[in-house]
Parts: sequence; structure tokens; C-alpha cells
Amino acid sequence: MAQRERMRFALAGNPNSGKTTLFNVLTGSTAHVGNWPGVTVEKKDGIYKNKVTKEEVYILDLPGIYSLSPYTSEEVISRNALIDEKIDLIINIVDATNLERNLYLTSQLLEMDLPVVIALNMIDEVNKEGDSINVRELENKLRVPVVEISALKEENISLLMDRAIDFAKKKREGMTILKDSPLKNLINEVTESLKKQDIPNPLFHALKIIENDELETNKHPDVYKFVKEYNDEHLSSQDLEAMVADERYKYITSNLSNVYSKKDPNKKKLSKSDKIDKVLTNKWLGIPIFIAILFVIFHLTFAEDFLYLNAMGVSFPTNFAGTPFKGLFFTEGGINSIGVILQNLVICFTDWINSLVGDLLTSMNASNWGVALVCDGILGGLFSVLSFVPQILLLFLFFSILEDTGYMARVAFILDRIFRKFGVSGRAFMPMIMGFGCSVPAMINTRTLSDEKEKIATIRVIPFFSCGAKLPILTACTGAIIITLGVGNADLITLSMYLLGMVTAIVALIVMKQTTLKGEVAPFIMELPNYHLPQFKSLMIHLWDKLKHFIEKAFTIILISTIVIWFLQSFTFDWKYIEYDPETLQFLGTLTTDDSILAGIGKLIQPLFTPLGFGSQLAAFGWVFAVGAITGLIAKENVIATFGMLAAVVGVALGSAEGEGVNEVVAMVQATNITIPALISFIAFNMLTIPCFAAVATAKAELKKGTLKYTIAFWLIVSYIVSSLIYTVGSWWWTSFIWVGAIALIILGIYLYNKKISSSRLTLNRG
Ligand code: GDP
Ligand code: MG
Repeated sequence: MAQRERMRFALAGNPNSGKTTLFNVLTGSTAHVGNWPGVTVEKKDGIYKNKVTKEEVYILDLPGIYSLSPYTSEEVISRNALIDEKIDLIINIVDATNLERNLYLTSQLLEMDLPVVIALNMIDEVNKEGDSINVRELENKLRVPVVEISALKEENISLLMDRAIDFAKKKREGMTILKDSPLKNLINEVTESLKKQDIPNPLFHALKIIENDELETNKHPDVYKFVKEYNDEHLSSQDLEAMVADERYKYITSNLSNVYSKKDPNKKKLSKSDKIDKVLTNKWLGIPIFIAILFVIFHLTFAEDFLYLNAMGVSFPTNFAGTPFKGLFFTEGGINSIGVILQNLVICFTDWINSLVGDLLTSMNASNWGVALVCDGILGGLFSVLSFVPQILLLFLFFSILEDTGYMARVAFILDRIFRKFGVSGRAFMPMIMGFGCSVPAMINTRTLSDEKEKIATIRVIPFFSCGAKLPILTACTGAIIITLGVGNADLITLSMYLLGMVTAIVALIVMKQTTLKGEVAPFIMELPNYHLPQFKSLMIHLWDKLKHFIEKAFTIILISTIVIWFLQSFTFDWKYIEYDPETLQFLGTLTTDDSILAGIGKLIQPLFTPLGFGSQLAAFGWVFAVGAITGLIAKENVIATFGMLAAVVGVALGSAEGEGVNEVVAMVQATNITIPALISFIAFNMLTIPCFAAVATAKAELKKGTLKYTIAFWLIVSYIVSSLIYTVGSWWWTSFIWVGAIALIILGIYLYNKKISSSRLTLNRG
């Protein structure tokens, strides 16, 4: 039997209506589901397979849209896909709890000459309220199949697909709910004239032309002229776009909304979500609550003194597991938080593997450099990155919970009030929050911003929202600071570094708004999704996504760079191997790592970082910080991986027996005598400077051609300024006067410059 070509279905619906959830159920894939609008920006596709008939259907997940007008890029993407991609049927997913608003898009989809099936999603929520929907009546009025489903609970999914597959085999002509409106004659005439020109989907295009839709009026100038004349003659020159929208809503409220029956129509109680929102989005409490929640999350992930029990006088045994300063459950008298315990478990495991492999290789009479390559180079680097996986995953779990419950959407809403002052809307804050995960999807998400300037500004500050890969730098250096100082607490320092990134973003946004990216902020309209309990499955999807991404990176780009760096660190410029014995941690010849190629390169670039505190002023091996900062440009994980590899060797140079197991950065701090302000400046530099290779490539793709260089310069300048500020003020407090003076001058300069510009505009206007 000849293989029948697969049918092609497109999923279309409002943002947050559950498209991605349905897509995942249908295709068995694991796309990102989020309880806020704008998560899906790109088209995604997959295959649905009927369990009984084995029939396969190609499914296309479109970005969420409220309408098919060409105002945002999502709308244009969706519309073009529906027109150009040879779709056999549209599954219009409708949020049944928000019927009226969702049917607005439905009314436009129905105008296409395509079979449409309506999936009334979230029916579980409707039923929970005791409400019901008259599906028969809706079907009669819209003349397409309507199926009540719950994408989340996977209810009625095969019914939906069976009816869709059936219906897709039929021809369907577009239908408009405006057929009885004052516009009906105009619509008919325009449709007829398009039909004569053999334009596909004539009704759909007719309405778009009447709506004064730019994409269409340009293509059919003569038809558009006719519409204008008709309007002047018969409709007394109305705003047709507004009129069409108006008529659609009128029809929906008077003819369609009544299919929804409320259990108790008189009851106008506040929903549970509204009640929660009274507190969480409260004008005064909103932001403090957000910061408190962040703090709790960081505490659970990073604290080595859980609940500050030790600080409050409760003491626990130290060095429980016998490692020098980190026990599995206890650290220096405090209980570890869950994140630290998990991390310690991973470290125990990887240390064990590493020594096992070392022993195995030695027993096989492997050469010294072979053992060193495998144990220090490959495994040492990889493992030091992997040891951060538990904390990264935990942090992600918390962020996913916040996102999935609907709280993150509130955060965007709360912050919109403030961010407006900084020149971006709440819409821009969404990609920024995503930046905490990874800059790459976050930058792609800026496509939801319609304003070009807002988009550029957002892309630039996204890396300041410290991503998962920068976390190891943060935690490792923070650990080193605490050990060196003997005080401080990990979660507080980590949190303040995250805050530093956010504050830098704010300041940068304000400066850009005042200088290179002036303009008004477009209004931000977002409906807040209902709160619901996070779904275990979708949380696991998020975590798996993250883990997969991390592991892929670990075994590709990080593995390759660790091997390269190992070679550079183990050979001299004239290719002599720098021999050392991993057992005794002793160099065997006269050569040390300080003679390596890597050291040579490091020393060459080191002066660049002198103003930041981790350059030429450091003692022997100080070049590793310069090298770390550079390898971070490939992938931020490399920074700590590089330290991981070098730590063992530096341990030798120190003549210390603590080479292994000691926090890599502590070894580096002891070897180089780097100061605390310089170490903080090092963290800040890595957080704020040019992001990894992948993020730069994404930025290049998202920004206008040829403008990437300004953005790269921006990252370099910001990171350089902030880090040197931290270093100089941290080391010599009196330099703060210089900084205050310099900043005051810059502000004055911007102020005067803006004044001059606006007065010259005034003169221009007068002229
Ligand atoms: P999209 O923006 O249209 O792709 O929507 P998502 O698939 O990301 O879903 C938005 C939110 O609605 C998520 O929090 C889902 O868990 C939730 N959701 C999706 N389908 C259902 C459903 O059938 N019932 C309920 N109660 N929630 C759902
Ligand atoms: Mg989606």
C-alpha cells in the first residue's frame, strides 16, 4: 500500500490557553510549558500517532496570539504559517474559563477556508466551579466540531483527534460571524471580487483588507480603494478596523457567551486567585514578598547553616565525613541545606570514580601523562562542573514552581510598575527572568517585544540576569571567600551577587534610555493566568530540559575545551611535557605549570585585568584568573573547569597535601594571594561581560545586521567599569570619592546633552 501523506494540523490559540501542554500530550514531546504568556515564540512541530489506527498526523504548535492582525511578530508568524504551510486543519484551542476573549481569535480563524476544530480546554477548571458549557449550541452556531478537553489531565484527547481527523477530510468554506452585521454587503462584495481573482481564502483576506490590515492593503490596492469608497459612501467614513472588532465582540457577547452557564449566576465572589493576588500583588507587599521568596530559595539551595541554627547558638559536629572543611550534612557547626547536601553527595561520588580510574590506569601501567590527562584534565574538569548540577537543578525546580503556579507572571506585573521608569515594559521583564535560566532562550523570547529599542536594551541586559552556567563561578568563589575570611554566609553573598546583576541591568537600562535608546515605552497589557498547583510532569520536563542541556554541553564544548586547556597547561612552548606525579603531587622535572603554554598566554593577557584586581598584581599562578575569564567566553562552565584542572597542579606548587578535595578556588586563592575585593570583582566580571559563545550567536541573530559590535562593546564596558569599581572601592575606600565624582560628571554630561538636544528640537520646530 502506498504511504498516504501525513495530514498537517496547526494548533492555534491565545497565549496561555494550553497549546504547548496539548502539543506535548499529542506528540509526546517535552516543550517548555509556562504559566504566562509568550513562552512559545518559535514554531514547533511534532508527530501525533493514533494508538488504534496508527495513523500519523503532523502537528505544528504556533505562538500564542489574541488576533490575526499583524501587530506582533507572533501574530505574523502564526498567520503566515496558517496561510503558507499547507495546513489541513486548525485545532483552535480555547481556554474555556475565558470563553469570550478566546472566541475573538476563533471568529477570525473561522474565516479561512480550512477545517477548524475547537478544543475547549481547561474544562476541568470549569467543572470544578460547577459550571457547564453547552457544546451542542456552540457547534450549531459555529458549524465546526467542538470538543471539551483537559490537556493537563489528558482528558478527551483521542476524541478530539478522532473528530479532527474526520473533519480534516471534508472541505470547509470560510464563515464569518459578521454575516448579519452592517458590514455584510461590503464583505460580500470584496469576497466576490477576490474570488474572481482566484485568491485562496477570499473571505479571510476580504476581512483583513476591510480591517485596513497593512499586509493586505498593499497587496490589493484596487480592492482597498473600493473599500474606502464604499466606506465613504455607505458607512459615513467609519474607522473600519474598530468597527470590525466591535462587531465581532458584539456578536460574541450576544450570541456565543450564553453557552456558558454558571452554577450560581448571582454569585460574584472573588475567585481564589483574586484573593491570593490581593496579597501577592499588593502595591506595598508585592516586591518585599518577591525578595523574601528569592531569599528562601537561595537559602535552601546554598546555605551551609540551615535556618541559621548555628549562628543562633545551636552547634553540630564538624567534619562529619572527615573531609577538611565540608561534611556531607554539616559544615563548621551548621546543618547544610538540601542543595549543599546533594552537592556533597555528587562530589563524594565523583571523587570516588576519579580515584578508581586513577588506580585502574596506574595498575595498567599507563604513563604519567596519560593518568594526568584522564584524571586531572578530563575527569577533573568535567567533575568540577558536574558537582554544581544538584544546586542548579534545585534552583531551577524552585523557579519552575514559581513559573508554573502563575507567580512569575505576577512578578512581571509587579515589576512593570517600576520597570516602566527604566524604559522597558513588564513584557521585557519576562525574557529577563528567563535569563536566570539561560540567555539563549531568553534572547529568543525578546521577539515578543514589538518595540525595537526595547528589544535591543533587553538583549543587552539579559546576561546580567545570571544564568545557570555562571552559578558554579558564583558558588565556588563565594565558598572561597567564606573560607578565607572565616565569616559570611553563602546564600547571602550569592543572593547579593544576583542582586548586583539586576541593579547593573537597571542602571544600564536607565543610561541607555537617556542616551542611545530614547523613546516612550509601549503600554503593557497582560492578563494574569489563574494560580494553580504546579504539575509534577511539567516540572520534570523543565528539569530534564535543563539537565539535558547541561550534560550535552558538558560532554561537547566543555570536554573539548578542558582537553585543549589540559594540553596547553601540560606542555611548554617547545612541546616538552611538564611531568608530575599525581600520587605524590610532585613535579618530576625542573619544569612546572608556570612554564606551560597556558601560563605564557595567561601572562600575556594578564595586564588587561590589572585594573580589575586579578591581573599582574597577583603572585605566582595569578594568570589562571585571566585564563579563566577568557575560557569563560566559550562557555561559562569553563571558568571553574579550568580551575578544577589547575587546582591539583597548583596544590603541588604550594607543596600542600590539600590539592585534592579542597575547593578549587580556595587552592587558587592561596596560590595567588588574590584579595577578597578582587575575587568579587572576578565574579562580577564573569557575570557581566560578554556571555558565552552560544548567547553571542543568538544575540547576533536577534539584533539588526551589523549592530552586534555595539552590544559586545556594551558588555565589555559595563563589566570593566563595575568590576574595577568593586575592586578599587573594596581595596581602597577613599577611591569611592573618585568614582562618585566620575559618576556625577557622567550624569551631568547626559543631562546637559539631552537638554541641548531638546532645545535644538525646539528651535527646529519653531523654524
Ligand atoms: P500556551 O501558552 O498556550 O502554550 O499554554 P501552556 O501549555 O504553556 O499552558 C499554560 C498553563 O495552563 C500551564 O500552567 C498549564 O499547566 C495550564 N493548563 C494547560 N492545560 C490545562 C488544562 O486542561 N487544565 C488546567 N487546569 N490547566 C491547564
Ligand atoms: Mg506555549
